[in-house]
Amino acid sequence: MMGSTRRRGHRGAMLATLVVTLALVSACSSVVNGKANSIYSDPNMVGGLRVTTGPSGLRPGVAQADLTVENSSGDNIDALAANAVSDIQVYWRENYPKLFNASFQPVDKLVSYDSTTQSRDKVCATSTTDLVNAFYCPSNDFIAWDRGTLLPAVKARFTDMGVVSVLAHEYGHAIQEHAKINPQSTPTIVEEQQADCFDGAFMRWVAEGNAPHFTLNTSSGLNTTLSTMIAVRDKVGTAPNSRNAHGSAFDRVTAFQFGFTDGPGRCVDITTDEVNKRINKLPAQFGDNEGSGEFPVNAEDITAVVTSLNEVFRANNVAEPTISLNGSGACSDAATTPPVSYCPATNTLTVDVAELAKRGQKPSSDANSALPDSVSGDFSAYVLLAARYTLSVQKGLGANLNGALVGLRSACYAGGYAAATTIAGSSVSLSPGDLDEAVSGLLSDGLAASDVNGKEAPSGFTRVQAFRTGVLDGAKACAVVYS
Ligand SMILES: [Zn+2]
Repeated sequence: MMGSTRRRGHRGAMLATLVVTLALVSACSSVVNGKANSIYSDPNMVGGLRVTTGPSGLRPGVAQADLTVENSSGDNIDALAANAVSDIQVYWRENYPKLFNASFQPVDKLVSYDSTTQSRDKVCATSTTDLVNAFYCPSNDFIAWDRGTLLPAVKARFTDMGVVSVLAHEYGHAIQEHAKINPQSTPTIVEEQQADCFDGAFMRWVAEGNAPHFTLNTSSGLNTTLSTMIAVRDKVGTAPNSRNAHGSAFDRVTAFQFGFTDGPGRCVDITTDEVNKRINKLPAQFGDNEGSGEFPVNAEDITAVVTSLNEVFRANNVAEPTISLNGSGACSDAATTPPVSYCPATNTLTVDVAELAKRGQKPSSDANSALPDSVSGDFSAYVLLAARYTLSVQKGLGANLNGALVGLRSACYAGGYAAATTIAGSSVSLSPGDLDEAVSGLLSDGLAASDVNGKEAPSGFTRVQAFRTGVLDGAKACAVVYS
């Protein structure tokens, strides 16, 4: 079920500048095995499709779906949700029989409610007052959503397609129930991974132009649907701050990617065994814990992170960049890319502190604050800083700095840096919320995955995959995979 879990305090946090005696930290501690993964390392492809630009959202001029929504106020958000469910049902009417060798039965009904009003009515045996949620109710086979707070907040921050993604995930839970995919004892994480995967399979179909009401481009549009998934989390059956209940942001993007790339059959193959083998391979440092508040993005902490970057990449024996916190970034051989610009000619990294700090701020509008989880934050700003810093390392190693592939390589190096900070003796340390922030940042802001002139790798899939490669295999893998 989809979530009203609000974080108790921020668990993001954690660029703890514990000044410990510094051991030399190497970013290349793990063996690089294997070669470039062509599906994910081609910046122009996403799950076998060309990366596209163009419209995303409700198609103009299409007729409103003919679906009944119980308790609807007749407002636009209910209409949007009904159009979404209508397309999701067209998808499953086509695909359910192929997958399960049985005819498709839609959910019994759709229910709208307003969490901002006091109500004595219950939905799925739950009071709807303050129930900022969207969910599938298995006991009565219906999907319900909060038209008062949740869906308007999702639409405001993640566009129409965010709302569609939320409902595609919830409909995935209905499919699980209808097809009886999972035994009773199935852990929540498995059900969530399947629902994310079904969301991905549906979105592929939308991206291919098959949906009557919606279109989706595979650059910004697809990135937005992934961002929605990371930001809006499930509540029921999950401890509010337990990463394991829904999986890390990496795990969730991976599950979505399975469905998008391989279709809904791959989702059925997500089992307890498969999940146990696949997830939680992150460094132990990213294990669950509570952070102690957002760490600000300011000159002092930027300097601490740069010091830490110097430590991590020192083993490469390349010249460290000069850091400028007040220069213009003007450069004879590259464009300025505020808030962090790298100039190869002078080996200078120019940081606009105030602008970088803005990238680290959580969204603050009323609509945004209503969302269950807001995962942009300090670390998304520091991932951007780290990725731009590594252009200096790449230059030192003799790499080309132009083209979208450089963006992926930079995101990978930033992941390698993140992993290196988990090694004892690092002057900067991260918490699990930081990784979610990193993923969120990579999806919403392409500069952390761009070349020296700011040319972005357009697909969020590949950006996150690149960062993940660095986290899991270390920075040394990046030059191999993204060469
Ligand atoms: Zn769910």
